Amino acid sequence: MCVRFDAVVVGAGPAGAAAAYAAASGGLKVLLVERGRGAGSKQVYGGKVYSHYLEEALGDLKGAPIERWVGKERLSIVDDAGRTATLEYEGGSTRAFTAHLTKLAAWLVDRATSAGAVFVDEVRVDSLRRDPSGRFSGVEAGGELVEADVIIDAEGVNRLLLERAGLVERANTRDLALGVKEVVRIGEKEVEERFGLDKGEGLSWILVGGVTGGLPGGAFVYTNKDTVSLGLVLYVDAAARAIEEPVHSMIEKLRTHPALHRYWADGDVVEYAAKLTPESGYRYMPRRLVADGLMVAGDAAGMLLNLGYTFRGVDYAVYSGYMAGRAAIAARDRGGPTEENLRELYEEPLRRSRPFRDLWRLRGVERAMEGGDRYFRRYPTLMGAALRSVFELGESTPSIYEALMGAAEESGISIIGALVDALMMARSI
Ligand SMILES: Cc1cc2nc3c(=O)[nH]c(=O)nc-3n(C[C@H](O)[C@H](O)[C@H](O)COP(=O)(O)OP(=O)(O)OC[C@H]3O[C@@H](n4cnc5c(N)ncnc54)[C@H](O)[C@@H]3O)c2cc1C
Repeated sequence: MCVRFDAVVVGAGPAGAAAAYAAASGGLKVLLVERGRGAGSKQVYGGKVYSHYLEEALGDLKGAPIERWVGKERLSIVDDAGRTATLEYEGGSTRAFTAHLTKLAAWLVDRATSAGAVFVDEVRVDSLRRDPSGRFSGVEAGGELVEADVIIDAEGVNRLLLERAGLVERANTRDLALGVKEVVRIGEKEVEERFGLDKGEGLSWILVGGVTGGLPGGAFVYTNKDTVSLGLVLYVDAAARAIEEPVHSMIEKLRTHPALHRYWADGDVVEYAAKLTPESGYRYMPRRLVADGLMVAGDAAGMLLNLGYTFRGVDYAVYSGYMAGRAAIAARDRGGPTEENLRELYEEPLRRSRPFRDLWRLRGVERAMEGGDRYFRRYPTLMGAALRSVFELGESTPSIYEALMGAAEESGISIIGALVDALMMARSI
């Protein structure tokens, strides 16, 4: 049996749902296909979403399953002994919220179906089909063919369909990071008391150093209404070489970490998940984002910014998905979704857009974050040793200079080496 749609969107993550919403809002007959049960069941993320591009694409966030608006940001460097230096920012305006991705994806899919898109779940697309001229003309799922004028591939980081279609190479572990996450329920009052939050206020907390055992990557803690999301993102290549224990035991260590455990003590772990993510969106980007009859959006297109202290995946996915959906409408009015039309209507505007330009501009920061042992173990050790000398006083009181020199010796970093690193980091930024 063969059915026909104007557009088929593969994957009901933030990118696919936004694409289906945009295309259906413009009057296209849209099919949104998801292999998981319901929207969001196969997705994993930390939990913090920047609202700007969602509001731009969707017009408003009415009914969005927002857990808390982030009013407090924390950045911590932790050494192997658990000594922690924290920078806290509050009092600014809230531009991000916490949410469970399953609920957020379901809400986005609701927006798409309300606009007229047809959503089917528990159907895995097996391949992208081409017609004899080489144009992408449909998808095959479970032996059935669905024909379409245009396909929007929003299959996420694994992008097996694009690989099978010969549009991307097999992902290199150098370009991937592994995320593991737990959600711990402690109750609404406890969330606010333990993290020092006002009613309804949210916290976003990024930690580096000893929390990953010195491996390149970082840890995150986000507060939801009555739960806390905590997790690790590790650069796969470095982790595979250095890791000495299973990843699930690393998250166990994070949960039971002496500096952190009190925040969720006596809570119940209600969710555990793990997933890959592009380590650097810019490097992960396919050479082209369109082909005849096809557009690529979201993680599959490398639309993700990971600076260590900032992670923008969901909002960039929504943004690129929305642009792809709009381009599908514009292409119909311009003679069809030929490669040339899609390049002009989707790829080029996306490459000129703010998110894309930021990915390009900040690619050096992403690369510098891979600095390995120095940034993720030795500098946290230096920081811990210096602060210990300054704050844990006995008979003598060291000057800051003496504390730094002693710490440099203890961590094996020379002051000149640190200055060179700072310069190199500044240059790459
Ligand atoms: C641990 C971790 C923490 C993160 N933290 C954050 C964060 O705090 N904030 C943030 O903004 N971003 C975060 N991200 C990134 C964010 O999750 C992604 O950038 C975002 O989900 C990308 O959306 P997407 O729609 O492109 O892909 P996905 O969300 O991966 O959705 C792709 C969908 O396609 C479906 N699919 C795949 N193949 C097929 C097929 N063949 N047939 C049918 N369906 C298919 C999948 O089941 C999935 O539902 C994090 C990621 C990880 C792994």
